[in-house]
Amino acid sequence: MNEEINKIRELLDKIEKKNDVSEDSLHGTFDYFELPQIIASVIDFLQPLLSPYESVIYWFLFRHSIIETADRYIRVSNSQIAQGIGSKFKSGDKVKVASDKAISDNLRCLMEKKVIVIVGDTNRDGTLYKINLPEEIELCIERMKKSRVENTCHVEQKKDLDYYNIAENRLLIFERDGYVCYKCRKQLTRFSATLDHIQPVSQGGDNSYSNLITCCLHCNSSRGAKPIMEQFTSDSKVF
Ligand SMILES: [Zn+2]
Repeated sequence: MNEEINKIRELLDKIEKKNDVSEDSLHGTFDYFELPQIIASVIDFLQPLLSPYESVIYWFLFRHSIIETADRYIRVSNSQIAQGIGSKFKSGDKVKVASDKAISDNLRCLMEKKVIVIVGDTNRDGTLYKINLPEEIELCIERMKKSRVENTCHVEQKKDLDYYNIAENRLLIFERDGYVCYKCRKQLTRFSATLDHIQPVSQGGDNSYSNLITCCLHCNSSRGAKPIMEQFTSDSKVF
């Protein structure tokens, strides 16, 4: 009987491990050089939407997932979070940490804002969360779009700049387009988004702000060297 239960446990562990590695896991594709930009966009676009308590929890999860393992998935328990967020303080002889209720209330708020998502069952090591980046969080995308509109005039003057090869300039294009593929309208992230030339380089197109557009890898590789406008019928609303 015990042996059978152990077998079932083993099988469940296997299934769980499989589910842990979702298709958009960052394993192998995360580039540490992007970390400063990610941190900047969290501070600019996400943090203003969070309460101080939620912020502290988000940064704790960020530190132990994206920074520590280059992966956005983290299994953690409420008590680990309570221990980790540094809210220990001495009251009389006892050291108090954040209450379990405070942690779970704030985790719930983060989930309601779609900042973190539960992706696996809870076991004795905690709950498996996926930590979203600003470009995947609807509330942040709105803020990014607003800031993009405010900055557009400023950016368009820099026509001579290369928006294709310089990483931080590429992000400006992705932000301008809301991280959405112009062709299939798929929501992308900085890790899955690519840039496409509106007028192909082979036909005199350059790497300027106005000649580049956000595209998913699939649409990008299936397009060939046709100018973008030729692919659409006259009633398509692309721009
Ligand atoms: Zn696409």
